[in-house]
Amino acid sequence: MEENQLEKNSNTNGNQKGSSDYDVVIIGGGPAGSSAAIYASRSGLKTLVVDKGLTSGALGITSKIVNYPGITDEISGAELVEKMRTQAKSFGAEYISDKVIGVDLQSDVKSVFGNGGVYTSRSVIISTGSMGRGSRIKGEDRLLGHGVSYCATCDAAFYRDKYVAVAGNNDEAIEEALFLTKFAKQVYFLSQTEHLIASEELINELQKNQKVVLYSGSKIKEIIGQNRVEAVEAVRKDQSEVLLNVSGVFVYLQGGRPVTDFTQGQLEVSQGGCLIVDASYQTNIPGVYAVGDVLCTHVKQVIVSAAEGAIAAMAVEKELNGRSRMMVDWSEKKQ
Ligand SMILES: Cc1cc2nc3c(=O)[nH]c(=O)nc-3n(C[C@H](O)[C@H](O)[C@H](O)COP(=O)(O)OP(=O)(O)OC[C@H]3O[C@@H](n4cnc5c(N)ncnc54)[C@H](O)[C@@H]3O)c2cc1C
Repeated sequence: MEENQLEKNSNTNGNQKGSSDYDVVIIGGGPAGSSAAIYASRSGLKTLVVDKGLTSGALGITSKIVNYPGITDEISGAELVEKMRTQAKSFGAEYISDKVIGVDLQSDVKSVFGNGGVYTSRSVIISTGSMGRGSRIKGEDRLLGHGVSYCATCDAAFYRDKYVAVAGNNDEAIEEALFLTKFAKQVYFLSQTEHLIASEELINELQKNQKVVLYSGSKIKEIIGQNRVEAVEAVRKDQSEVLLNVSGVFVYLQGGRPVTDFTQGQLEVSQGGCLIVDASYQTNIPGVYAVGDVLCTHVKQVIVSAAEGAIAAMAVEKELNGRSRMMVDWSEKKQ
């Protein structure tokens, strides 16, 4: 795992009403979220970034970036995100690997619910990008909760000694598949692309695992079952079809829609499902900001997302410290 798993679950520390663990929790650690983390932690705010995977975002899957200022050598998107994360960590920002599944944004103390814990803060910055799925696999919605899952960490134990399928090609999918191998008898890993988009180390681990059967270039066409998942039908790269008998299907596919499902209607969105913000990137709820591709109001570029993250972090700092103007710390000294 590329980020530190926090030892302390913020839900278990006896949190008092009105107190919070962090000044700001940033949901999504791509260029928008990590730039926000650099500025927030550099200005002395206690900052946590919750991110579900290095190669789960748009920059994380990009093979080569040549137009980010100052980066003249050939670099992959994942490497650039790593550099931003390292910089944010050097100023004190914490990162945790977790998928956010819900939020409570209305109270003064905001709660962010992940599969692995609850994180509380005085303000929240949402930077989850726009890799959300629009379409579903046939049978997916009907069998959701009856064998279809999006969280191996939560549900793997139900599949002890059973056959399961995982659909995806990024580090999130691989990590979840490896977790499933602790319980399941066999894990069919169906990657829609020929090559997996993750670190070499993680890909090797998946390939070496005796319980994993890898189907590269294979797409699930239908999830089959009367009341529970019984099988998946997949199409392979040579267009041949394969039927795999499984009790569970774990889906980690990506698309092109803003990722806002976890906000559960608490924030104003446009017709296209993009979060709506003001000039300082604040949403309709005070203390809750959104930046990057999740807004869809700009040209989708790394530099634009990074800039928005910086502006939002400065706005958060201004708000929490009760000042009327944003301030940038030019000093060499770490705050
Ligand atoms: C194939 C491709 C090539 C591109 N090439 C270029 C290029 O050459 N130059 C350029 O400037 N731009 C390029 N872009 C655009 C650029 O990558 C995006 O504009 C930019 O990455 C957006 O940044 P972001 O932080 O808003 O979102 P993302 O980079 O998508 O990051 C979002 C982060 O949120 C996390 N996340 C999502 N949901 C959750 C959740 N529920 N819980 C926890 N974490 C979550 C993800 O893990 C991810 O790390 C490209 C995009 C693509 C898809």
